Amino acid sequence: MAISVKNPIVEMDGDEMTRIIWKMIKEKLLFPHLKLDLKYYDLGVQHRDETDDQVTIDAANAVKEFGVGVKCATITPNAARVKEYSLKQAWKSPNGTIRSILDGTVFRKPIIVRNIPPAVRSWKRPISIGRHAYGDIYRSVEYKVPGAGKAELVFTPSAGGEKVSLVIQDFKGPGVLMGIHNTEKSIRSFARACINYALGEKCDLWFGAKDTISKTYHGFFKEVFDQEAEARKADFEKLGIRYRYMLIDDAVAQIMKAEGGMLWACMNYDGDVMSDMVASGFGSLGLMTSVLVSPEGKYVYEAAHGTVMRHYYEHLKGNPTSTNSVASIFAWTGAIARRGETDGTPDVVNFARKLESIVIKTIEGGVMTKDLAAIAEPKPGKYALTEEFIDQIARQW
Ligand code: NAP
Ligand code: MG
Repeated sequence: MAISVKNPIVEMDGDEMTRIIWKMIKEKLLFPHLKLDLKYYDLGVQHRDETDDQVTIDAANAVKEFGVGVKCATITPNAARVKEYSLKQAWKSPNGTIRSILDGTVFRKPIIVRNIPPAVRSWKRPISIGRHAYGDIYRSVEYKVPGAGKAELVFTPSAGGEKVSLVIQDFKGPGVLMGIHNTEKSIRSFARACINYALGEKCDLWFGAKDTISKTYHGFFKEVFDQEAEARKADFEKLGIRYRYMLIDDAVAQIMKAEGGMLWACMNYDGDVMSDMVASGFGSLGLMTSVLVSPEGKYVYEAAHGTVMRHYYEHLKGNPTSTNSVASIFAWTGAIARRGETDGTPDVVNFARKLESIVIKTIEGGVMTKDLAAIAEPKPGKYALTEEFIDQIARQW
């Protein structure tokens, strides 16, 4: 008998190969077992174009209302895509639009499979990365100093009062300068999103910065994180998880010896660099999921990869494809489990966990798509085509 999901999930459809996979997942893996109330928004690029991108805004507002969304990969149009799909204009990235409406932080989490060994031997459980996505060097002002002169940091209060001015450097010759900033609002909402994620995933939270050297700037990040974690101390204790502040270099050293199973919250630049390191360390884009968490605890789940355009073109030519659907399936199970948790319906959560474990067992049993077959140990004799892989999962239910 089908399990009923109590409250709605906001479904955002997408483009190209992932749109094809999306439909198969729903029809073969979800609909036979679940009664879902889906609030459907078609974020396929043509429909975004027809609605002047209003559909993306409506979808984000629906997530605000219902709390849980799941999103298929979508095309972010550039000049070539505008021509290819005869679009009115190069619409903004849907993820950017959704993120700015929900004011969220994106967390990436790898899926661990025993026969796809990570590059780092000690990694046994997923390491999630949360990257602060505002400010620091990504909103900097830079200046190439041509010769001797005095550089100063000047702050003029809007409320009146005295200017503050600090000498940065008395240059004796040419050099280079940069001014960076962040805001308390952004740091605080990042810290809250990280705390919500750690509580949701029941995992430890690590935060690293360099407050020994940057006592004011990095020190402020630490102060805000400490305060926000302190405010949720009882929730952390209830779940038996910890918040740990570390110097960033200590965090890097410890990550390489850790088993995993934590959320690593990173300042903007650290997150940019470390998320690429962690992703490649775990093996494949097809095994990386991503979730947007807002400071109010609204969630949008998706695969970290794009629409896999190259495979789609092969598909359109009638050629067989071997596209990995695992990250898209886990986007669905993530959303379904979250829905079940917030609704207090354990059978819904169990459905999601069961589907995840079947997917993992399928790969561990040697059935996998081409991208994984290339890095698996041992290598399978042959790889599964896109639909074969999904059918194999459906058969094992
Ligand atoms: P992509 O779709 O991530 O694919 C890049 C390459 O990575 C593929 O050609 C394929 O390599 C491999 N790959 C990625 N996902 C795979 C999977 N599930 N199974 C097997 N192989 C996989 O990136 P892209 O081709 O640069 O971007 C295509 C479109 O996606 C763009 O229009 C971009 O705007 C959009 N995009 C959307 C999102 C999002 O919605 N979150 C994110 C990124 C990109 P091989 O060709 O070697 O097999
Ligand atoms: Mg990067």
